[in-house]
Formats: sequence, C-alpha cells, structure tokens
Amino acid sequence: MIALVLEKKLQLSIRDFDIKEELGPDDVKIKINTVGICGSDVHYYEYGKIGNFIVKEPMILGHEASGTIIAKGKNVKNLNIKDRVCIEPGIPDKNSRAYKIGMYNVDTNVKFWATPPIHGCLRPEVIMPADFTFKLNDNVSFAEGAMIEPLAVGLQAVSKVKIQPGSIGLVLGCGPIGIVTALSALANGCSKIFVADIVKEKLKICEKYKGLIPIDLTKDDLKQIKTDETKGWGFDILFEASGSTKAYDLIVENIAPGGTIVVIGMPVEKISFDITPLSVKEAKIETVFRYANQYEKAIQMLATNKIDVKPLITDTIPFKESVGAFKRASEHRPNDIKLQINNIY
Ligand SMILES: [Zn+2]
Repeated sequence: MIALVLEKKLQLSIRDFDIKEELGPDDVKIKINTVGICGSDVHYYEYGKIGNFIVKEPMILGHEASGTIIAKGKNVKNLNIKDRVCIEPGIPDKNSRAYKIGMYNVDTNVKFWATPPIHGCLRPEVIMPADFTFKLNDNVSFAEGAMIEPLAVGLQAVSKVKIQPGSIGLVLGCGPIGIVTALSALANGCSKIFVADIVKEKLKICEKYKGLIPIDLTKDDLKQIKTDETKGWGFDILFEASGSTKAYDLIVENIAPGGTIVVIGMPVEKISFDITPLSVKEAKIETVFRYANQYEKAIQMLATNKIDVKPLITDTIPFKESVGAFKRASEHRPNDIKLQINNIY
C-alpha cells in the first residue's frame, strides 16, 4: 500500500510499501483520515534516530491518528464498522508486569508506531487491537481525534499532581505538549497557568485561552512575576515541557514549598542541578513517559468542551504533499504549533 516512508535520515518518499498485517479476531481495520506530525516524527526525519531507537531500514512515519473502522474481527463487540475512532499507538505486551499493574506505558516491549522497527500510520489503512482503538463522540472531529495522542501526554502529566482548586501553575516550554499540559491543568482546577518560553511567536497561542498567561523569558522578569502572583511563595505545580537543560535552575527557584514538579521533556544531554534547595522546600519530582489509560478521558474532555485543541492545529496538508509537510516541520517555524496530514488516498 502507498505510505510516507522515511528511507533514511532526511530522505522521505511517498511510495508503495509492502506491509503484512492480518485482521485478527480482536482487531479492527481502520481507514486513516488525519495524522498529526509529532516532534518525534520530525526528529527521526532529521537525525534518523532518537536515543537508542535507530532507523536502520525504511520506516513509515506517523502515530497521531484518527479514522474510520472498515472491518472488524469476530470478537470485537464494543466497536462497529463506520465508527469514527482515534488510535492509541503503543501496544504493550499484555503478559508484562507493567501491563498488569496499569503502567503499560513503561513496558519495554511496547510496540509503538513509528518507533523502529514498528511502522507508523501515514498510510491509507492500519490494523489495530480494538482495545487500543477509541470511538470519537459525534462532536469531536477527525482533526481533534488526531490531537488526542498529544493531549493524553498532558493529562498523564496532570494525573501526577494533586491540583487544588485555585492552584497556580507554571509550564516551561510553549510547544504542543506544553500547551496541552497547561490546558489539562486548567481543566483540572488550576486558576492560572503561566507558560514560559524564549520564542515570543510561540507564546502568542496563549492569547487564545483564558487562564494561560505567557512569560517571555527573554524580557519578562520571572522572579517579579513569582513575587506578584504568589507573594514570593512559588508555583504550586511546575511542568517541565521544554526539554532544555537550562530549565532546571528555573525549576529549583520557582517551585513552591511542598509543590510538585512534573518532568515531561527529555533533555538530550545529562543534567545536573543542586538538590538541596528542593529538599529544603520538600518539593516532589514526578516523571512522565507517554501515557496510560488517558485516551477515554481525553476524548471526554474534548466532547464536553472542557479542553479546546482546535486553536493548536496550525495547518492541514494533503498526504500527497506530506514530504513537503515534513520539510516545513523540520524548519521549526515558531508559528507552527501542530501540522496535520489528511486526504490519505
Ligand atoms: Zn506524538
């Protein structure tokens, strides 16, 4: 079938690709409608690897997908042909200890789309286990359905903290994950979320949301904001979504006593920071890897308008122009938040 294939670093093609998948009794076959371009897809395109995951053979990209069920296995009861769905792209080993304790996201044998050697979903059809396929409410579009994957990361991050009504939060990093995390924290009861970045064009997205307050770290005085907004106490919750090693000094300075830091971004280099200032505040550090059991919640948040991801979709590009879409994504234009691909044959 036709697919967007990463042949090797910096070389993409739309071509026929022989992929053997069979519809099992517990599977559904899905006609793909929309696929979001993720930072990880772009990273594989630019560098041919992420950490120890190396693209050694041509690989189909894409893991943020929505579509329509066109066939189903005989055991599938909760989904039907013509259902509009979104797809959770990581299939864990159901016999693993991680799966059994509900942390299936940390199963080291997880088969995650567009992570070598597993192919992604930038192709007309995929087969997926029905229990990792989720029906979209009628008022949730395919475009929003393809935003569930990044939103699930935000909800996973927020699930790590006890948010009290009126909590004030700080998010470091105004990329798609930073924003969906900020929106998830607001929807969970925070009164205000400050979002800090060094790129002013990225921070413009905050204007579209009540409760998100941009901090331009190149000119705004974060120390003064902390004094004014929290009487110097610090932010109750702090999400690190920039992946920058420089973020850690800000984390130490700005977390409130007893506050919780959630680390989402993964810095490429090792980081080191002074733990004592955190110890004297009894601050907690939590970490996040993808998500587990967040898809249904994410769909509900969109269906009930508690979270609106539509302003994050900057542009939608037809599949036949998807090579160009990746080139654009790799330019990292500051105004591009989420690019999506549709019209997949
Ligand atoms: Zn993603």
